[in-house]
Amino acid sequence: MALRPSTMTTANTPRFTTRIVHADRWGGAEQGAVHYPIHSSVQYGHDKVEDLIAVFQGSAKGGFNYARQGTPTTAALERKITQMEHGHGSIVFATGMAAICAVFLTLLKAGDHLVASQFVFGNTHSVFGTLSDLGISVTTVDVTDAANVAAALRPQTRMVFVETIANPGTQIPDLAGIGALCRQHGALYVVDNTIASPYLFRAATVGAGLVLNALTKSIGGQGDALGGAITDTGLYDWSGYPNIFAAYRKGDPQGWGLQQLRKKGLRDMGGTLSSQAAHQLALGAETLALRMEHSSASALALAQWLEQHPAVARVLYPMLPSHPQHAQALRHLKAGAWLLSFELRDPGQCLALCNRLQLPIKATGLGDARTLIIPVAHTIFWEAGPAVRAAMGIADSMIRLSVGLEEVQDLQDDFERALSGHG
Ligand SMILES: *Cc1c(COP(=O)(O)O)cnc(C)c1O
Repeated sequence: MALRPSTMTTANTPRFTTRIVHADRWGGAEQGAVHYPIHSSVQYGHDKVEDLIAVFQGSAKGGFNYARQGTPTTAALERKITQMEHGHGSIVFATGMAAICAVFLTLLKAGDHLVASQFVFGNTHSVFGTLSDLGISVTTVDVTDAANVAAALRPQTRMVFVETIANPGTQIPDLAGIGALCRQHGALYVVDNTIASPYLFRAATVGAGLVLNALTKSIGGQGDALGGAITDTGLYDWSGYPNIFAAYRKGDPQGWGLQQLRKKGLRDMGGTLSSQAAHQLALGAETLALRMEHSSASALALAQWLEQHPAVARVLYPMLPSHPQHAQALRHLKAGAWLLSFELRDPGQCLALCNRLQLPIKATGLGDARTLIIPVAHTIFWEAGPAVRAAMGIADSMIRLSVGLEEVQDLQDDFERALSGHG
């Protein structure tokens, strides 16, 4: 008989990958199918109209009516993400950005204040501008020191937003210190855990109320499907959150936040993940731990090798002792993940080096099975401009690598050749 989470004890609770590859069967397998089926239906009919009404009114837990709010296939992926984060529940979205916008636009309103990391994904930074235009003020601070967050808090501060490992500068916030501040202040602590993934770090351990994952990156892992997820860790008391609409202040307060995010973020805004993409992401999720172990080991080896190379000025990787937040990384992360950035001594060689490398693909994007390389200031942070780049610690010569699954010796050989001017 299949183990179900509710019947597990500490002695028989399976570990990370065991849980992920069996999570679908715990939800009840259809026709014995080992993979959760792809439900492509948009409409979901019911035998009795009372059942349809129950789904509409929210009294039938887990029922479906119209795919914009989810399908059995997206629900299966949601259960898998919840298993990974040991959370209370999750909602999946069409992209990571759809998940991020759902959090900001459905849980904040004009007059509110958001404190956010100044080291964030470029498109997230762009959303801060949109929020300001809507009357939500945003203060960005250096979150590597919780004192900067404390200084920015106001009575109107509803939310604090950080990334576990910032892209592209790899800064790590004072994760636990900020969690303690949020608890004191009653602010919702939102952690974008995309790069670390729930395998390397669980944001619930530092008091996060909501965890975001761009499924496109670590969890999907193949660069073949976009997706995003919001997980409620169960730690935040929604009964004290002023922005929950009256319609969603019903039943157990633990469910209020996700209820509002699903109704507003999926039903109203329509940032819905397709069942096909949910299936691809669920397959990717099965190998998350294996891939994170492999690419983290490769990234560390490559970071160490680059750091001692005479042509390299600086390497940013959390597991290098030279990293400014190395102690935070050791304290919180199981490994360093696949993101590393570096600068050359001769900034004029930055583009030439990218062209000389044969294996890394010159492309934006992160967390693919193939190593990707991009000069940061010229591309993903071009629109941000020099002032924002300076505040984020992005040098004009910074090169970002998303280390893939290739054998690390092949990558190192390629770098050796390219850095010595050949190739
Ligand atoms: C890529 C990324 C996102 C956005 O995810 P998409 O699926 O591309 O929309 C958000 N946060 C971080 C940290 C990312 O790297």
